[in-house]
Amino acid sequence: MIQAFPPYSEVVSANTNSATLHIEIPEVVDILRLDQIHPWVSGNKWYKLKYNLETASMLGHQRLLSCGGPHSNHLHALACAGKVFGFSTTAFVRGYSHLPLTETLRECEEMGMALVFVDKKTYLNRYDQHWCQQQAEYYKSYWIPEGGNNDAGKKGCAEIAEQCLGYDEVWMSVGSGCTFSGVAHSLAIAQLKNDSLKKVHLKGVMAIKGGEELAASLLADLGNECSIDCDSHLGGFGRCPDELVDLIHHYDAHNLPLDPVYTAKLVMAFERYLQTGKLKANKRYLLIHSGGLQGRRGVKALSASVP
Ligand SMILES: *Cc1c(COP(=O)(O)O)cnc(C)c1O
Repeated sequence: MIQAFPPYSEVVSANTNSATLHIEIPEVVDILRLDQIHPWVSGNKWYKLKYNLETASMLGHQRLLSCGGPHSNHLHALACAGKVFGFSTTAFVRGYSHLPLTETLRECEEMGMALVFVDKKTYLNRYDQHWCQQQAEYYKSYWIPEGGNNDAGKKGCAEIAEQCLGYDEVWMSVGSGCTFSGVAHSLAIAQLKNDSLKKVHLKGVMAIKGGEELAASLLADLGNECSIDCDSHLGGFGRCPDELVDLIHHYDAHNLPLDPVYTAKLVMAFERYLQTGKLKANKRYLLIHSGGLQGRRGVKALSASVP
């Protein structure tokens, strides 16, 4: 079924195999460059979308409906995927239509996405199944939850696990936790099927403040080969203090572009563990670069140098 989307399979196979690069921080670290899959349908968002697109197409839908904020990586990826694979796209956007469009939203529109601005209160409905179903019917469309966080999204993310085998620890950023759960389940299954496989510990770094409850609920379903750090959000989702800007500029100079919302915080947390002696020289570490570089435009100090 996936073969029905030829541009996709070409992009992915061309990049993921050779996508592990070494960086300056310890020699034992690899980076899985999911940001290189596609400039816009980037990183984990592609994995979350692929089976959603497939399902939408199987159900005969021509329109995809979703929601997101004004700098959303998900909406940007969805608009582009819709254009490439021939779906129309509509999105509920949290925010105010009287403000100038962000670059992200302007490009979403350019790619054909219809934007429907809703106030914060209406936007809260996105967690209400019944409301979502009503909207899907009204817009005659296939509903994709915020960030692509549903079973089809998880199924896609499970495929990232393949790239994680052979490492002692794999680190990734956590927003909704869809990617983390998808990868964790798939690693657990691989382990069950073959107990001679080296155990991979999956470490999540929470990008949102107050994510302890979410972390606990994600971990409740998973074995003890998983953990989540909830102390590296730097003040909250989307907050980008100067130290983070400095870190991003540092890695720019070493050809590792990072985004301020997710991947830079991941790398900062990893560096901190390293500096405080929490990492082991004899272990192999993989950091997953989950993409999102377009989101740099949401931070003034970074917007001049979007890769
Ligand atoms: C959306 C996003 C995440 C978070 O993924 P979840 O599956 O929601 O946890 C991480 N990194 C980047 C770059 C993202 O765009």
